[in-house]
Amino acid sequence: MIEVSGLTKKYGEVLAVDDVSFSVSKGEIVGFLGPNGAGKSTTMKVLTGYLAPTEGTASINGHDIIDQPLAARAAVGYLPESTALYEEMGVVDYLRYMGRMQGVAGAAIQGRIDDVIQTCGLATMAHKDISQLSKGYHQRVGLAQALLNDPPVLILDEPTSGLDPAQIVEIRSLITRIAEEKAILLSTHILPEAQNTCSRILIISNGKLVGEGTSGELLDMVSGNEQYSVRLRGGDGTLRRLEQLKGVTAVSSNMENGELAATISAEKGHDLRERIFDTAVESGAKLLELSHTSTSLEDVFLSLTGTTGRRSGQEGGSQDG
Ligand code: ADP
Repeated sequence: MIEVSGLTKKYGEVLAVDDVSFSVSKGEIVGFLGPNGAGKSTTMKVLTGYLAPTEGTASINGHDIIDQPLAARAAVGYLPESTALYEEMGVVDYLRYMGRMQGVAGAAIQGRIDDVIQTCGLATMAHKDISQLSKGYHQRVGLAQALLNDPPVLILDEPTSGLDPAQIVEIRSLITRIAEEKAILLSTHILPEAQNTCSRILIISNGKLVGEGTSGELLDMVSGNEQYSVRLRGGDGTLRRLEQLKGVTAVSSNMENGELAATISAEKGHDLRERIFDTAVESGAKLLELSHTSTSLEDVFLSLTGTTGRRSGQEGGSQDG
């Protein structure tokens, strides 16, 4: 549904997107993840026909964005990063106006408006002015507008940006609901959002694609160790036994208040929790704590982009393995 090949976009001397290639199929929600200034919005603006590429090309539902720009544009619904809605208009009037702008046939408009109002949960707001709506409902109107001509492809630039946690959950479930029949490319800088909503993730940094895959595949790209933190009391020789467990690469430890705090590093793919427990019991030690951390998507993001994934405090934070 979306095919991007060698896409490059320069603003004067600024290389905003650098030889990017990827594809998105029907039924997929692909997350476009990257720090600010990475090139996400620029890529999306090229795909939606707002900007011309400097090099390379892309097609939307089989229509080349350069050779068949109108057909390509008609196949895509776009939610820009800052949705400029006409605040003084009523929701239905705005959607009717946008439907006409998008070329939805006159006879079909009312049916499409009813449909998107239903899909986007706007029934109770339908006759209010847009200026009266909360930010979450603004975003729903933006999504409704993007869905008006029932496009097979949706491009959503930071769809949950600026929303409160409850609104984020609502918009996420709305996107998941409409995803089955469409190909969706969604940009975000919020890692858990990409992990929770997207079937696949593209990581972009300084205009280049630096990672692509499911969150599981991305985690595999950054080879990290499994790590276990344990806290023990008593038990002679427990440390030595832990060091000898299959898969263990290192054990570091220190004594705190008569308790032994140890960090055990193990090769990837070894789940040693049960064996650590058994080893403690066999050594006569009391196991006071045991926790397991493996590589998080945040580690992947940091490693691939060299930046921090925590921003705005909205939902930042690593996922504990
Ligand atoms: P993102 O959406 O990932 O935050 P953008 O696509 O907005 O990134 O920006 C990519 C790069 O292009 C940044 O270096 C940004 O400063 C630059 N850029 C974006 N828009 C313009 C513009 N209109 N003119 C010049 N440079 C721009």
